Amino acid sequence: MRLSSICAAIAVMAIAATPAKADPPRVVATIAPLHSLVASVMAGVGEPYLLLPGPLSPHDFALAPSDVRRIAGADLVVWIGAPLESFLVKPLDGAAERQLALLDVPALDALPFGASGQDGDGAGLDPHIWLDPVRAIAIVTAVQERLSQIDPDNAATYRANAAALIVRLARLDEAIRARLQPVASEPFIAFHDAYGYFSRRYGLQPAGYFASDPQRRPGARTIARLAALVRDGTVSCAFAEPQF
Ligand SMILES: [Zn+2]
Repeated sequence: MRLSSICAAIAVMAIAATPAKADPPRVVATIAPLHSLVASVMAGVGEPYLLLPGPLSPHDFALAPSDVRRIAGADLVVWIGAPLESFLVKPLDGAAERQLALLDVPALDALPFGASGQDGDGAGLDPHIWLDPVRAIAIVTAVQERLSQIDPDNAATYRANAAALIVRLARLDEAIRARLQPVASEPFIAFHDAYGYFSRRYGLQPAGYFASDPQRRPGARTIARLAALVRDGTVSCAFAEPQF
């Protein structure tokens, strides 16, 4: 009798000492690079859902009904912002506490297209922030802070994961800088205007793009201008983007 009541008391104490294991927060990340960063911060707690898997481009995407339900039920949606994922503007309208739009985070220092000296077409903020490892560090910090707010029980895990990831991203930044330094002065062309932040970070010389928006066909004038750059030897390297 006495032994069983001691056992019961120990069992109660054990339950009281173990924090209730709540469900992990339901987190949605839009594109694969963001998902990768968010998944690393959430490691050991939960797994974010990737909204645009594989080759799907956010430049041309429409939400399926199942996506709409998932967004409505999410504790947090991590996205770049309206210039990239315009399909999220309506579903997230009025849901400020359930979303993290990275272009709105001051530490991300979002810039307009053309800020790298290229002829931007005034289309607003350049969304390609994840291609700059230093901005990726700012993304990790913003994600960690927001996750810690909505899920304080796991804040220590988020902080530790973020710190480890930031060390890796800082090493990546150094490695890219060292690798590109010998070719930094070589002008290049790329299919769409995605490399402004990357080029600024590493002092590269983008000579032009076929299009700002990969969904828009380049005009004859643009193609003629870029072809001339290749012909006269200004440009020796052209990057294709076969996914478009
Ligand atoms: Zn793009």
